[in-house]
Amino acid sequence: MAFDSLSEKLQNVFKNLRSKGRLTEDDVKAALKEVKMALLEADVNFKVVKQFVKDVQERAIGQDVMNGLNPGQMVIKIVNEEMVKLMGSETTEIKLQPGKALTVIMMEGLQGAGKTTTAAKLAGKFKLKGKKVLLTACDIYRPGAIEQLQINGEKQGVEVFSMGDKIKPVNIAKAAIEHAAKNEFNIVILDTAGRLHIDDDMMAELQEIKENVTVHQTVLVVDAMTGQDAVNVAKMFDEKVGIDGVILTKLDGDTRGGAALSIRAVTGKPILYVGMGEKLSDLEQFYPDRMASRILG
Ligand code: GDP
Repeated sequence: MAFDSLSEKLQNVFKNLRSKGRLTEDDVKAALKEVKMALLEADVNFKVVKQFVKDVQERAIGQDVMNGLNPGQMVIKIVNEEMVKLMGSETTEIKLQPGKALTVIMMEGLQGAGKTTTAAKLAGKFKLKGKKVLLTACDIYRPGAIEQLQINGEKQGVEVFSMGDKIKPVNIAKAAIEHAAKNEFNIVILDTAGRLHIDDDMMAELQEIKENVTVHQTVLVVDAMTGQDAVNVAKMFDEKVGIDGVILTKLDGDTRGGAALSIRAVTGKPILYVGMGEKLSDLEQFYPDRMASRILG
């Protein structure tokens, strides 16, 4: 399961805390030092870790905690609460336009992050909610991207709009939205092109789409297994194109958890969904409290 190595380390710290009847300030500080190390080894952003430990320590060294019946348990509870807060506390949904009005969602992210797969996973989720969804192939560069979207769209029973690889993505987006409006679609999902690394052409193309069509929600797809790189990518995309939220893929293979724990705090943008596998049904809504429980064991 995800986060195994982080979970194991934190559980050891907690076991120690639980075994003590009384706690001194030094006990708490020593435990939090270990928590700090575990988070850093999990590739959580350094500033985020520093603030997190400071917040926990301020609360944990309070009189109520130290004089309570079970101080170890109280410290663990505080760690849990602060971790939930770190990930945004509440579940955030992709905001749809009211009623039957058309919502345009633009997916963006680096090549290989899982954008095309996630676009199809999302389309399936919306379809289950009774929405009519149009998947749109705007990734005209990656060989096989259009076909992959078509295959996945078919699996999901969702229409795929494509104009091949010779038309500019912004014009494909415009045509898709026109088609959607005429045919009473509720949601258009634009699968845009990624690159191996952040580059100006990619950002310019995304900006051009946003300037020329009404995009209601911009969703960034990042690979959880890349840890702090994912966080930096999120920061860059947010600065250059703007994002409303993040989908963290490949969490099933992430043993560390650094991206999940840092992205919200670094970018201020919520995690919307997490990818838990390659199958089109492997997309889960993100619940900060459940994620904290998974990590803390
Ligand atoms: P794109 O270049 O961003 O469009 O990436 P793709 O959608 O082609 O995905 C790249 C690879 O990641 C594919 O092999 C996907 O099956 C895989 N993938 C996507 N999401 C997940 C996930 O949540 N978990 C796992 N294990 N694999 C994923």
